[in-house]
Amino acid sequence: MSGLGAKYGATVRKRYTRIYRELKAKRNCPSCGSRRFSRSAVGVWKCGKCGYTVASGAYTFA
Ligand SMILES: [Zn+2]
Repeated sequence: MSGLGAKYGATVRKRYTRIYRELKAKRNCPSCGSRRFSRSAVGVWKCGKCGYTVASGAYTFA
C-alpha cells in the first residue's frame, strides 16, 4: 500500500511541476506582444499591458 502511494505521489508531483512551469512561463500577448501576459483566473488569460483577455486552458495557454 505504501509502495503504491509513493508511486502515485511521484506521478502527481511530476505532473504538478510541469503544470506549474507552464503557469509561470513567460508568454507574449497575442494582441500587443507584451510579455505581461499571464493567467488571471482558471481558464482566463489576461494581458497586463493592453488588457486583452482570452479564455483558454485552465493551466496552459494553447
Ligand atoms: Zn497585450
